[in-house]
Amino acid sequence: MTGTQVAQRRERILTAAVRQRLIDRDDALLAGFVDLDGVAGSVAALQEAFPDSVAVLHAFAAKANPLVPLLAELRGLGMGCEVASAGELAQALAAGFTPEHIVFDSPAKTRAELFQALELGVTVNADSFQELARIADILATRSSTSQIGVRINPQVGAGSISASSTATATSKFGIALEDDGNVERLVQAYQEHPWLTWVHTHVGSQGCPLDLIAQGIAKTVAFAEKVNAELGRRQITGIDIGGGLPVDFDTDHTAPGFDTYVAKLRAHAPALFTGEYRMATEFGHSLLSKNGFTAAYVEYTKTSGQRPIAITHAGAQVAARTVFQPDSWPLRIAAHHPNGTAKIGPLVAQDIAGPLCFAGDLIARARPLPALVPGDIVALLDTGAYCFSAPYHFNTLPEPAVYGVRTDADGDFRFELLRSAQTINDLFTRASR
Ligand SMILES: *Cc1c(COP(=O)(O)O)cnc(C)c1O
Repeated sequence: MTGTQVAQRRERILTAAVRQRLIDRDDALLAGFVDLDGVAGSVAALQEAFPDSVAVLHAFAAKANPLVPLLAELRGLGMGCEVASAGELAQALAAGFTPEHIVFDSPAKTRAELFQALELGVTVNADSFQELARIADILATRSSTSQIGVRINPQVGAGSISASSTATATSKFGIALEDDGNVERLVQAYQEHPWLTWVHTHVGSQGCPLDLIAQGIAKTVAFAEKVNAELGRRQITGIDIGGGLPVDFDTDHTAPGFDTYVAKLRAHAPALFTGEYRMATEFGHSLLSKNGFTAAYVEYTKTSGQRPIAITHAGAQVAARTVFQPDSWPLRIAAHHPNGTAKIGPLVAQDIAGPLCFAGDLIARARPLPALVPGDIVALLDTGAYCFSAPYHFNTLPEPAVYGVRTDADGDFRFELLRSAQTINDLFTRASR
């Protein structure tokens, strides 16, 4: 789809949602939407980018959007699931993923969590030498069908957003490959533990250039080759290359695509494509961000110090990253009439504020948009990942409903509830004994 077609589809989805009162001035002031046809397209693009000659498990990074019906949808599309906490593991299991299609990454797995994962047969990537020792302890007394890997930090450096750069020299993730003695210790671990057959890396997320990601993966592949050469046997049979394909938050285009990413991998790490290694990927952002938006009513407008401000119902509770790190995570905003149609008119620099009681609760500052008035709707674009699905609980604001939407055979939009809105009672019980 062209950028214009994407914008028109979004407008039609929003007008249909207003007609069906999924977003409503009286009792649904805010809602999230996930375009399930778009998700299917993104998953297909990912699957098609990798050649059939390589066995790949594409595991969706659950933290990007862990709503169970959405995870089930992704499972139906042939995805696996990457989880990073006991809660996400429970969500993945509830979505019907079989343990061999679940990958458990976390730097803080407890003994009980490791025990459960190994008992189930979930793939486990150890994040440290201490965690490897715990796994060895558990496996000394019982066998497991889990694939077990170790996360290495290739230390290739940071992208433009430090909080999402995981392969810096001092990153908290993985075993630092360049630190003195670590390669030797790792080779020894593979030598001692025949069950250690995978290696994992995740170089970073938004803000990391593709070449940096590909360099980190290339170092990981070279490490696997070295281990296998030193051991004189192909013990490492699988490489988990993580996620992190950057997303274009500036336009309605999807770039770079998964095909560009795979071309970079082929250039930097050709050994990945010989068929000798199985592979896993862990994409989140790039599968969901552009397939979702958040719609909120404008409640009031005012002018302060000559600056027009629209007070809306979308703030840090659904866009925490943008509110707290506005320079790293700017969001596009579209202005719509109360019936959902796109608003056009002269652009006026406006602050788009949320409802939370702190001054920084702004989705955008001095953003040129058609003049907003109470009752208009703002759409926060590209928010299908890490936004309404990662709520921030401040001011006891409820999590909004989230709807999946797809086009039926007649060309009409069919909405399905992915998460119901929290009620005041739900919130009240969370703050009570
Ligand atoms: C967050 C994360 C991902 C997903 O990153 P995206 O930028 O959403 O693709 C994958 N793997 C690990 C280990 C992560 O922490």
